[in-house]
Amino acid sequence: MARLHVMERSEAQTVMDGLHRALEGRLSVSSLAPCPVEFTAAYIAMCATQSCGKCTPCRVGLNALHDLFEEVLENRATSATLDLIEHTARSIYLSADCAIGYEAAAMALTAVQGFADDFRSHVENHVCGFKQSELVPCVSGCPAGVDIPGYISLVEAGRYTDAVCLIRKDNPLPLVCGYVCEHPCEMYCRRGMVDDPMNIRGLKRFAVDHMEGDYRPWIAPATGKRVAVVGGGPAGLSAAYYLAIMGHDVTIFEARRHLGGMLRYGIPNYRLPHDLLDGEIQWILDCGIKVELECPIDDLRPLRDGFDAVYLAIGAHGDNRLGLPGEDSPGVISAVEMLRAVGDGEAPDLTGKRVAVIGGGNVAMDVARSAVRCGAEKVTIVYRRRVADMTAQDEEIAGAQAEGCELLELNAPVRIECDASGHVAGVVVQPQIIGGLRRGRPAPRAAEAPEVLVPCDVVAVAIGQAIQSDAFAEQGIPCKWGRIQAAEDGSIEGFPGVFAGGDCQSGPATVIRAVNAGKVAAGNIDNYLGFNHTVGFDVELPHVQFKGKTSCARCEMTEREASDRIGDFDLVEHGLTAEEAHQEAGRCLRCDHFGFGAFRGGRIDQW
Ligand SMILES: Cc1cc2nc3c(=O)[nH]c(=O)nc-3n(C[C@H](O)[C@H](O)[C@H](O)COP(=O)(O)OP(=O)(O)OC[C@H]3O[C@@H](n4cnc5c(N)ncnc54)[C@H](O)[C@@H]3O)c2cc1C
Ligand code: SF4
Ligand code: SF4
Repeated sequence: MARLHVMERSEAQTVMDGLHRALEGRLSVSSLAPCPVEFTAAYIAMCATQSCGKCTPCRVGLNALHDLFEEVLENRATSATLDLIEHTARSIYLSADCAIGYEAAAMALTAVQGFADDFRSHVENHVCGFKQSELVPCVSGCPAGVDIPGYISLVEAGRYTDAVCLIRKDNPLPLVCGYVCEHPCEMYCRRGMVDDPMNIRGLKRFAVDHMEGDYRPWIAPATGKRVAVVGGGPAGLSAAYYLAIMGHDVTIFEARRHLGGMLRYGIPNYRLPHDLLDGEIQWILDCGIKVELECPIDDLRPLRDGFDAVYLAIGAHGDNRLGLPGEDSPGVISAVEMLRAVGDGEAPDLTGKRVAVIGGGNVAMDVARSAVRCGAEKVTIVYRRRVADMTAQDEEIAGAQAEGCELLELNAPVRIECDASGHVAGVVVQPQIIGGLRRGRPAPRAAEAPEVLVPCDVVAVAIGQAIQSDAFAEQGIPCKWGRIQAAEDGSIEGFPGVFAGGDCQSGPATVIRAVNAGKVAAGNIDNYLGFNHTVGFDVELPHVQFKGKTSCARCEMTEREASDRIGDFDLVEHGLTAEEAHQEAGRCLRCDHFGFGAFRGGRIDQW
């Protein structure tokens, strides 16, 4: 018999790997599970199977804990059972020998405490008290609540204009979102339990790219009420659109030369072509919205006197500074400033320059990729955490790498070095080592390694944006760390008729969150003005047929070759083909019609 032999994965192991992968998919999309108690019970049972069996608290304790959960689910529990559940979980947490055991107990404790009301409802009323307002998982995952299964069914039926019309019920920027939405909806798509989540953004883009014709929305009779919208980004445009179709007289006051906010002055043309953006904005303005460009507002009084309501949507256009020595040297630029210049058609000439970009978010990736297109000889993205911890979207990171940007992870900038003339000559970085979780993210600390100089001619700082709200704060508008403090309905305490939303209220976020802020504000401003207009859709949806039983992977959008696209600012991403879009649309499980979407009341026809 041979002394050593090559290890092959056994058949049983291969089956187990497959089951794990399938479970992984299910877990990652099941956060909208129907009953948190049932879900936690299943979860603890699974953790019990992972125990190595060495220590009693984990081996016996997790099973005992699971039995107590069963008592709750089978209506045999009393309030004493709930105390015992918490006590047992805490005991396991404090006494298990290894992290497998105590982390499982910690998760159980989090669930027990987090869903305390639901546990009580099971014990006291013998029913699940989980008040799920979410109807369909993907719809709940979209911050604006776009009717995803509805528009997908219209794409499948080849009715693209109708699909866009349906999307605009909740989101007046379907084109923008088809091109750049971060698609949080896909994270919750139940198709992910079968194979891959639906390509929801791709189908939205396909619908807008293939509309058969245009249409105009129905506009309510004029109300005689005037609304001022300060800021023409997605939040301001969305509020303006819905208010205009409700019959109000809307004027947008925009500080810059063009409308669009960060859609134009942040997101580069190669991801969202400006001519397409202009078309979408014009479609909104054609609802009768007036615009005052190059009109920065810093005094609210004239607007409050001249209008019946005011919506503040000024975004986050200031820069966060590094606070490091040498930061004021020539050659250090802010990412927002550079992208603004690019958006204005005044891209800097970086031919032959070495550029260091500091940051790990989407803005860092956009500025790095823009620098490549501006002729930079070398672009290095310096980030103090790991690439895995970057907040930029995976496709943005991959795009930057494909275009030749280098990622220097686990290196924290400590100072900017200058040459004899005072111009930037490099960034000095301190290598980091990754450590334990801090506020949910692995935190880096200085490694036992010497500082390193990253030679460069330009440093682009992309470490977040600040909100320029000082002028409004001076007039009494409540602000905290620059963020305008607005209530959930967008109103501002002590300022009747003044509302705020978007990045200036939430902090830098996403297009679709800004769109939703504008939509929420429009509904509430309409009520404030004494009306109750509804926004619905005038499209009949195709009849639902059950299918989707066969496995079929997701169609992804492709991109222009990296070597070709780095020479220009033209669009990088190709949309789905008609064949792909049709196949992709056919994968939708129609959770609005089957399963718990229908069970909870189906679609929201109007708001
Ligand atoms: C580089 C970059 C890339 C991004 N990429 C994505 C992405 O891929 N996907 C995504 O979903 N999100 C992305 N975002 C985020 C997204 O663009 C923003 O969250 C969104 O634009 C915020 O919308 P808003 O209307 O609140 O503010 P903004 O879009 O910032 O618009 C605010 C508007 O108000 C104007 N304004 C400011 N002050 C005044 C004043 N005093 N008077 C009058 N007008 C004023 C501004 O000029 C601007 O036009 C990105 C952001 C940046 C910076
Ligand atoms: S707008 Fe974004 S989040 Fe909403 S459905 Fe479209 S891709 Fe998803
Ligand atoms: S399968 Fe369709 S309806 Fe179900 S969550 Fe995914 S996109 Fe939504």
